[in-house]
Amino acid sequence: MFYIGCHLSSSGGYLNMGKTASELGANTFQFFTRNPRGGSAKKFDADDASALVSYMKENNFGKIVAHAPYTLNPASAEAKTREFANSVFADDIEIMEHLPHNLYNFHPGSHVGQGTDIGIRYILEMLNGNMRRDMTTTVLLETMAGKGSEIGSTFEELRTIIDGCEYKEHLGVCLDTCHISDAGYDVRDGFEETLLEFDRIIGLDRLYAVHLNDSKNPMGAHKDRHEKIGQGFIGLDHIGKIINNAHLSGLPFELETPNDNDGYAYEIKLLKGLKK
Ligand code: FE
Ligand code: FE
Ligand code: ZN
Repeated sequence: MFYIGCHLSSSGGYLNMGKTASELGANTFQFFTRNPRGGSAKKFDADDASALVSYMKENNFGKIVAHAPYTLNPASAEAKTREFANSVFADDIEIMEHLPHNLYNFHPGSHVGQGTDIGIRYILEMLNGNMRRDMTTTVLLETMAGKGSEIGSTFEELRTIIDGCEYKEHLGVCLDTCHISDAGYDVRDGFEETLLEFDRIIGLDRLYAVHLNDSKNPMGAHKDRHEKIGQGFIGLDHIGKIINNAHLSGLPFELETPNDNDGYAYEIKLLKGLKK
């Protein structure tokens, strides 16, 4: 099964996102759990969440991806920022159990000059302090572009976080094609080798989702500027190979390209045409 979707606004509620995804030709989607640049969440509606769960079942959806707000930085040097990250993460983990067996993705964080080791120690405090043995959600570390002091732009850093997590059975990785290209990994002719490296260092069994984006910048640029499918450095040929790569078969692919919903519908159709 080819699970393809895009980032959707959550302002109309959960069921509404499922219906919008269908209208766009998608069978999965991603959404922000709360205001991406702030952190406030609407009051949680459990009935709406269970309506989405039924809708997804009826329409053969793949897993969906909830994305933590960008302001969540568990690796911060400031205690206040870390406390905010911990409380948002705890709340979101709770909410996700109303959408059981789905995915919760977050940016590992920026160490803002303290160094990667201290940053990772704080990230692990958040994970080990708030994950639970009996949770059904898989928490995903997103591969990052390496902008500023971002942690998670190398497979080794992600592996170190996984190694320190007491709940590894519920921890995985979301691979963002723009981010890893910007981080210096080849997603064009060397994509197979990149995945084999991912397998050696992290393990492909830890890969649960793909953010499918083109990049405005060349490999290694550390910029994190997403581009529309086929209009950036990666290009349509290589994106076609990515969605057909056997190692990624069955994973949800989420578009985070600079588009409105019509633009997403166009890209979803384009990608379905490239899927063998
Ligand atoms: Fe992200
Ligand atoms: Fe992403
Ligand atoms: Zn990005």
